[in-house]
Amino acid sequence: MASETLAARGRMVERQLRRRGVSDERVLAAMGKVPRELFVPPSARELAYEDGALPIGYGQTISQPYIVGVICSLLSLGGSESVLDVGTGSGYQAAVLAELAAEVTTIERMPELVEKAQDALAEAGYDDVDVRLGDGSLGVPEKAPFDGIAVAAAAPTVPEHLYGQLAEGGRLVLPKGSRWGQDLVLVVKTGEGPVERRSVPCRFVPLLGEEGFGDG
Ligand code: SAM
Repeated sequence: MASETLAARGRMVERQLRRRGVSDERVLAAMGKVPRELFVPPSARELAYEDGALPIGYGQTISQPYIVGVICSLLSLGGSESVLDVGTGSGYQAAVLAELAAEVTTIERMPELVEKAQDALAEAGYDDVDVRLGDGSLGVPEKAPFDGIAVAAAAPTVPEHLYGQLAEGGRLVLPKGSRWGQDLVLVVKTGEGPVERRSVPCRFVPLLGEEGFGDG
């Protein structure tokens, strides 16, 4: 692998993540390992470690590295968990989660992106990630309960199906708000109901589907 790519990845970890407060060493190591350049279109490879989201086609984006770092940190993964990633997009966040948890299922509504993400995940060596096509706002009931659920598209409220598919003590992270701006929110499932904590402001594409913003 080109040494400039490794150096760019190292700089991303130090400047965009650690310096901005991402302190979970497992997340920093995971993002220092996953080859983000394999998850962006070939024409954008030299931008793979820039500080922002990038277009991946079909009107969708690969999320900003910092936001991926915050989402993964909020999940507080130790390595033994089963995790659901909603909104596969490029597959990058699913690959980072595969470094952090035992089992990763990811679901995407656009067939073209499912195919591309499967290819990128295989090329990067993450063949164990289970990539599904479907409405992720409804979760993946047959694989529930999940210890963690990461939603990479904005929702107006916490989708009930997703909360229902969390294990007791499980953690769900999602961008909650309007189509134009949201806050990342951590929701923990407890015996007394959901406990919600707001994290950083963000801007994601909308979660479509039954428990998102509908079909378009
Ligand atoms: N985490 C991704 C990555 O690392 O590349 C970026 C995800 S992108 C910001 C959001 C994705 O959510 C898009 O690919 C979009 O098609 C998908 N999406 C939106 N609504 C969805 C739904 N109801 N079910 C599944 N995927 C959905």
